[in-house]
Amino acid sequence: MKAKIGNPNEPWCPVCEDHTDYHLKEIRPGKTRAMYTCNKCGSNTWNPTNPFLFGVVVIVLILGLNFLMFAADKNNTAQLQPGEILLGKIAALGMSIFMLAVVWGNSKHWRKFQKWRKKLYQEKIDAVLEQK
Ligand SMILES: [Zn+2]
Repeated sequence: MKAKIGNPNEPWCPVCEDHTDYHLKEIRPGKTRAMYTCNKCGSNTWNPTNPFLFGVVVIVLILGLNFLMFAADKNNTAQLQPGEILLGKIAALGMSIFMLAVVWGNSKHWRKFQKWRKKLYQEKIDAVLEQK
């Protein structure tokens, strides 16, 4: 049994609400984020990442991606066909939505983790106070 401490550098399972034992999930190509599978309930578990920093990185990426697509449309230095530009815009939009969904999922995970950690510490404080 692992010590019950809230550690954001350790994967945390949102279903079990604990730092459960885990194993590395099969990594699909193009996946950069480490995803783990909870040994207890089999759902996804990962390190709670600070949603603010993560959100800033993603927003910069989204802006860059969309800027690139619209710049390509305006100057068309790459001699793209109109259909290719449209496809690129749809891809940029799809990527943006996907990344926002990841940010949203992570932010929910982070909030749940913080709530759990707070409760855990409160329980510890209460236990110490009761002993006195
Ligand atoms: Zn679990």
